Amino acid sequence: MRRETTRGNEGGRAAHDPWAEQRRAMVQRQLRDRGIRNERVLEAMGRVPREKFVPEESRAQAYADRALPVGEGQTISQPYMVAVMLEMLDPRPENRVLEIGAGSGYQAALLGELAGEVYTVEIVEPLARRAEAILRELGYDNVHVIYGDGSLGYPPRAPYDRIIVAAAAPQVPPPLREQLAVGGRLVAPVGSRYAQRCILLERRAEGSAETGGLECVFVPLRGEHGWREE
Ligand code: SAH
Repeated sequence: MRRETTRGNEGGRAAHDPWAEQRRAMVQRQLRDRGIRNERVLEAMGRVPREKFVPEESRAQAYADRALPVGEGQTISQPYMVAVMLEMLDPRPENRVLEIGAGSGYQAALLGELAGEVYTVEIVEPLARRAEAILRELGYDNVHVIYGDGSLGYPPRAPYDRIIVAAAAPQVPPPLREQLAVGGRLVAPVGSRYAQRCILLERRAEGSAETGGLECVFVPLRGEHGWREE
């Protein structure tokens, strides 16, 4: 897990954080009050500075109860949706995690707080670069950003204990199933182009179990196992 850096408030020397109150309110009203119970997820979302991952022009909205544009036609998901998916994923400190769709890097930072080692793949190069820069600046040394087609997974570090897909696919891309460790969990929005369900897939020694979750709307997964470009 990421080591504590000088960002914390412990020690009493930290500068006043003007966003702290909004972050606390977001955790209480958007997450706890709506039933998010995983304390590690709640704590991580109370720590990661979401405002850093949001473009300058929408920064005032950083803790709003909605998805926000991050450029290149992509979005940073609504905090509640992020929490639901992380709760389904249940990343543990000893886990190696693969994320498909780094986008702003926000969810990758949360994964960096919750898991041992994180690989996040992004198909849009400027987004991959920006996410990488912010994650470095914030000291998430256990998070690795890879520019490429995540519908193929990331074979060099497979298998993964946890895989989370942040873009919608018609089905779980076969390479991701293959790169999931036995006993591992995969969370992905699966369905049509404009409406999906977040599913949880658990890989067993023999076969796998799939459970359907919340309805959701994600941007389409591109690449070889995603939607064809229009
Ligand atoms: N997790 C992000 C939100 C992701 S939005 C955050 O916290 O901000 C979905 C992202 O998936 C977009 O950035 C999009 O460019 C990316 N994407 C779509 N298809 C992809 C693919 N095949 N491989 C990697 N990234 C992909």
